[in-house]
Amino acid sequence: MTATIIDGKAIAAEIRAEIKAEVEQLKAKYGKVPGLATVLVGSNPASQTYVRMKGRACEEVGIYSVKPTLPDDATQEQVEGLVRELNEDPNIHGILVQLPLPSHLNEEAVLSAISVEKDVDGFHPVNIGRLAMKGREPLFVPCTPYGVMVLLERAGVKLEGCRAVVLGRSNIVGLPVSFLLLHANATVTICHSRTKDLPSVTREADVLVAAVGRPEMVRGDWVKPGAVVIDVGVNRVDDPSRKSGYRLVGDVAFDEVKEVASAITPVPGGVGPMTIAMLLQNTLRAFKYTLPDEG
Ligand code: NDP
Repeated sequence: MTATIIDGKAIAAEIRAEIKAEVEQLKAKYGKVPGLATVLVGSNPASQTYVRMKGRACEEVGIYSVKPTLPDDATQEQVEGLVRELNEDPNIHGILVQLPLPSHLNEEAVLSAISVEKDVDGFHPVNIGRLAMKGREPLFVPCTPYGVMVLLERAGVKLEGCRAVVLGRSNIVGLPVSFLLLHANATVTICHSRTKDLPSVTREADVLVAAVGRPEMVRGDWVKPGAVVIDVGVNRVDDPSRKSGYRLVGDVAFDEVKEVASAITPVPGGVGPMTIAMLLQNTLRAFKYTLPDEG
């Protein structure tokens, strides 16, 4: 069997086009557009790149965006003060604080300061708490896990009653994905660095989500024939044949697993492009919560 490739790049482009059309429609009706603030503290080059990419993506779909920046030595009060100002700004509907924050700052306190209604990254304790409870709905779901669920949905994967195995239990990916799969009525097993005999667990999965950050760890014989495999991992490995000297691979040995699985996401071009698309989706949702007939 050779797996169907779940094309995250194409699905993300579809979602961005849908968002753009809806933003135009709402602008014509209400004379307003969604607004996103991406807060950057410090000068981490990767964070600067992510913030720039998010700004560009907003521009492409007609979402207004600002990128307030604070220096590396910003105090807790300064960061929380900026977040509170943005909470009060009627032109800003979504606030994202780019993580990681410099180590002297209390990340949990900063995330808690974001208004729950503007928490488009979905990391406010109230949103995470609702996600972790049966029968409760968060206002926003973290973007990468949300992207994983949309990929599964658009690939037509039936989750109810299936066995899902999630590799990784981080707050950013593994845990929220697990809760979302549980909300979708899958039977979920969460694995981590202390799990014994990982391949015997992953071989039970109808849906396998890998988010460990270990290049090509999931081999062909770890996967049940016909399983759906979602690879969240993004890892750099040396590749002297490339000008950059490296290439990106996932947590899944793609060439082996595609011969066993029924569907698989590639890296790059799978989950990666979905993250920003879902941020735009969450910002649109936050905007609609503020509109009389749309929320
Ligand atoms: P973390 O490092 O925060 O978490 C990794 C998880 O994997 C932990 O729960 C850890 O277990 C578990 N783990 C590590 N090694 C093993 C192992 N050998 N066997 C079993 N479990 C293991 O990573 P993230 O969740 O933040 O990211 C995971 C991957 O996803 C990375 O490659 C990252 O780059 C990528 N990513 C991609 C995004 C995208 O947009 N596509 C967005 C975010 C992340 P334990 O808890 O016991 O330590």
